[in-house]
Amino acid sequence: MPSFLDDRVDSDAILEDIRNIVEIESPSRNAPGVNSVLETIARLFEGTGAAWERELTTDSLGNILLVRCDPTRNEPGILVLSHMDTVHPVGTLTGKLTYRREGDRVYGPGIYDMKGGLVLGVAAFRRIALARRRTKLPITFLFTPDEELSSPVSRSVIEREARGQRYVLVTEPSREGKVITERKGIGVFVIRTRGRSAHAGRDPDKGRNAIVAMADIVVAIAGLGDHTRGITTNVGLVAGGTARNTVAEECMIEVDLRFCDDKSASEMEAKIRALKASRPEIETTVTGKITRPPFLRGAGVDLLFDKAAAIAKEIGFKLESAPLVGGGSDGNFTVAMGIPTLDGLGVDGAGAHTNDEYMLFSSIEPRTRLLQGLMERLE
Ligand SMILES: [Zn+2]
Repeated sequence: MPSFLDDRVDSDAILEDIRNIVEIESPSRNAPGVNSVLETIARLFEGTGAAWERELTTDSLGNILLVRCDPTRNEPGILVLSHMDTVHPVGTLTGKLTYRREGDRVYGPGIYDMKGGLVLGVAAFRRIALARRRTKLPITFLFTPDEELSSPVSRSVIEREARGQRYVLVTEPSREGKVITERKGIGVFVIRTRGRSAHAGRDPDKGRNAIVAMADIVVAIAGLGDHTRGITTNVGLVAGGTARNTVAEECMIEVDLRFCDDKSASEMEAKIRALKASRPEIETTVTGKITRPPFLRGAGVDLLFDKAAAIAKEIGFKLESAPLVGGGSDGNFTVAMGIPTLDGLGVDGAGAHTNDEYMLFSSIEPRTRLLQGLMERLE
């Protein structure tokens, strides 16, 4: 009986498919690039019997690709989540991060996060489908265009397709060979202060400096982090003022919040919303929200991890789960819905979101087999 353990895995051919997709630059806000990736992925499903459709999003984003591998089966099954967008601007491929192989490392924009893993998911399914084998559960793939923006448009589609599924597999990158079973939640906030402008030399007393007022708030936010509870805050962006010799009328900051549980989320959201300039005649507004709920490792995730670990053992490696990570993924949404989700099933490598991003060629074979094993075994 052929299975994920048999048949040679043609890592070179899989790397060629990865290369074809990496060489299409697809930052989230470049719709033509993302759509070109989408069309390339769709072609990989030809001859497998899968049915695919595009869902339009907004003009500024690429489309969503939904692939039903077993179009005639309607029972709960497996949803595989991958994103097609990267954080790398167009020009990275011909400049700071060219596609190249150096020993086991293969470099390229988005190759690790997550074009490599995306292709492995498809490759695993193709190995099953082209051998005319049948999985116990129907498989659906969802390829999204906006994960790196926190999935503003895809979230509702992900939740719609995840509802009623038995498992979700996420092809985000592996961490040092480990899979991911828990992630922090994320909140994103924008705070604005508004005072009154005045000539800094002639009428300094008439002015109300929005930057000075914001400085107090920035320090307050830095003090909101709580290491023991895994809560972090970061003021990552600041803008304000119009000229050196003008009392600044406006200031704006963007704040990133990470937390481990729902209680911390609501507590921190309330604290951030309550922030207010303590100086007179300064108006403060806070907007933003929790964009990703925490990915909590519950019983369902535990059980799914155990199944994956058993499959890995048959393949010949010991599967471990990574320690809690601060980066979110679309798996956060499906875990919050109560669906057993396993993340970090993509390629191994390092340097996500940097100009040193690479995947390990040697991770193609074990990771393809692991994904294939999950597709074959889960019931
Ligand atoms: Zn990613």
